[in-house]
Amino acid sequence: MTDLRLAPRTGREVRVRAPGKVNLSLRVGPRRADGYHPVATVFQAVSVYEDVVATAADDISVSASGPQADLVPTDDQNLAVRAARALAARTGIADGVHLHLHKGVPVAGGMAGGSADAAAALLACDAFWGTGLPREELHEIAAELGADVPFLLMGQTAVGSGRGDLLTAAMSRGEYHWAFGVRESGLSTPAVYGEFDRLHPGRDRLEADGDVALLHALRAGDAPALGALLHNDLQDAAVELAPDLVETLSVAEDAGALGVVVSGSGPTVAALGRSRQHALVIAAAMTAAGVADSVLTASGPVPGARVVAGSDVL
Ligand code: ATP
Repeated sequence: MTDLRLAPRTGREVRVRAPGKVNLSLRVGPRRADGYHPVATVFQAVSVYEDVVATAADDISVSASGPQADLVPTDDQNLAVRAARALAARTGIADGVHLHLHKGVPVAGGMAGGSADAAAALLACDAFWGTGLPREELHEIAAELGADVPFLLMGQTAVGSGRGDLLTAAMSRGEYHWAFGVRESGLSTPAVYGEFDRLHPGRDRLEADGDVALLHALRAGDAPALGALLHNDLQDAAVELAPDLVETLSVAEDAGALGVVVSGSGPTVAALGRSRQHALVIAAAMTAAGVADSVLTASGPVPGARVVAGSDVL
């Protein structure tokens, strides 16, 4: 019998799963001097996942698989690589790691797939390198990597302010069922914000307390009320840049969705169904009408990034 303690550890890996998100409400204020827009948002994490696998390597590297993997940069621009480098810099670690991303969240779709990779990579590297940073420190690094990254660490439902990185957990009852209409050609988040500035030159303040009724609907588990209150200040800008989104929105509405909204900076369209079965019906209607390149169904809220397996494979 082999003595496992003496065997070389050749195949160690850590797997982390992180969800995508939908903004149930996204309110945007005027552009600040530093270029950022203040936002008031309500996030829900949904069951569309990025799976990140960390394995040993000499340097920090990344690869990706999934339907849109060819759209993902594999150099230092990749948010997972940036997350690994940021953690290494903070902790003084000089080790390498290879991060493989199984991408389930649409790329450049407004569901924060890249941010989910960053959140997952932070946790994966923290476990892989044994750096054991407290949650608050991981949250700090996450906020430096991007405004949505802290929420993908946290998951569930949260109110976001600042750039979307200052989070307060929100109470939510029940399960919400979504159909997503996905486009192959994404929208660039800076381009959508630029269009928003062009469309709203006179905007002088952020409507920060506009979501009282929506938060009440979540607490009550009232899906029809939530559907009626879905809101996105960036929707007009996204539709301006991708005008045929109007058809996607109306097909989902005609299929009886409780509410439809462009997710984040788009172009993914999120439609809230009455049930899991109804979400499938809405997705099928979008497919049949040819108003989405692909469709997904998912439910929320779900937990944030978490280690799903770690092993010493010999
Ligand atoms: P958000 O809603 O946070 O603005 P998004 O969902 O619209 O993001 P992402 O899929 O996160 O968009 O990616 C946007 C761009 O970021 C991509 O077009 C790609 O060039 C770059 N990028 C960097 N790292 C990643 C990554 N790990 N996965 C996907 N895209 C990445």
